[in-house]
Amino acid sequence: MNIPFNKPFTIGGELENIARAVAGGHLSGDGPYTRRCHRWLEERLGCGKALLTHSCTAALEMAAILAGIGPGDEVIMPSFTFVSTANAFVLRGGVPVFVDIRPDTLNLDERLVEAAITRATRAIVPVHYAGVPCEMDAINDIARRHGLLVVEDAAQAILSDYKGRRPGAIGHLGCLSFHETKNVISGEGGALLVNDPALVARAEVIREKGTNRSQFFRGEVDKYTWVDIGSSFLPSELVGAYLCAQLEHADAIIARRRALCAAYRRGLEELENAGALRLPQPDPPATAGNGHMFYVLAGNLAARTSLIAHLKASGVHAVFHYVPLHSSPAGLKFGRSAGAMTVTDDAAGRLVRLPLYYELGDSDIARVVAAIAAFFR
Ligand SMILES: *Cc1c(COP(=O)(O)O)cnc(C)c1O
Repeated sequence: MNIPFNKPFTIGGELENIARAVAGGHLSGDGPYTRRCHRWLEERLGCGKALLTHSCTAALEMAAILAGIGPGDEVIMPSFTFVSTANAFVLRGGVPVFVDIRPDTLNLDERLVEAAITRATRAIVPVHYAGVPCEMDAINDIARRHGLLVVEDAAQAILSDYKGRRPGAIGHLGCLSFHETKNVISGEGGALLVNDPALVARAEVIREKGTNRSQFFRGEVDKYTWVDIGSSFLPSELVGAYLCAQLEHADAIIARRRALCAAYRRGLEELENAGALRLPQPDPPATAGNGHMFYVLAGNLAARTSLIAHLKASGVHAVFHYVPLHSSPAGLKFGRSAGAMTVTDDAAGRLVRLPLYYELGDSDIARVVAAIAAFFR
């Protein structure tokens, strides 16, 4: 039996919720389940206002509009991230300015951010890689001193802990993903967390095709009409119904994923001590990850390539990512690098993500560990 890299799952209640939504006769967006998701996110994450979207990509696109990004405006972000982090701002004419990452967490290196700021800089986009929180106090402080907006790409970081706060609820705006590869899933799905109260009203309008429909349904205006730019960023109620069950079991999902990461670490520690590979560093002080990802760093690109091939031959599907955005065709065309990308290029060439999903068994972990150990023997 092969061990896949990821496996979408139900945790209980998803299908019943969907059946109830259908029976209730409300399938378009913002029905009762979507509202329940909004309340859960607002209460558990401590964000001002939560708005479900059809993806984290959509939430990032909303954030770029809310940030007022226009042609030539610069947005500081890591190069070691998924394309949507940058693409959302390029769609507005913005210029991604790529900054290197920290060698320990592989997160945006906050010590390099200030040197990348120019008169055209409008926003900073920290990405909480693998669910490990970025150094948000330092990033928010830089943003405050330079009058910049902070948009957190918290796609991987639901319910992680940064000094008692939740990623996505710390900057002006935060973006979550419920894609089937993330911790809490609805197939495709996401949320925009609007933490700056001054941005809430416009966020609702942008999400509803540029209309004031949300205000109309609350009885605040007597007709609804086109008032701003926008698009259809809200998900169907069926997505909200699935997601609602997942959110209500989010603590169990995260506890299981953390246990799986700990099991990988115990199993691979000996290989790390022998110098065969490197494991993720412990979470920085006063932070805790959410068990989103477990990766190893091979010695070099050739070792990484043959390790993935060896695992594949052993029935274990492991993957690498990212092609750094600063060296991708679109990144070269639309963005620029601020400083050297040494740590980014190094991690991108050596990183291997191991299978990790809610239903992964302890015996599966043992098999993956044994296959890795066999490779290095
Ligand atoms: C998954 C991911 C996204 C995109 O999420 P979608 O919901 O698939 O649009 C964006 N940024 C990061 C860092 C991600 O991991």
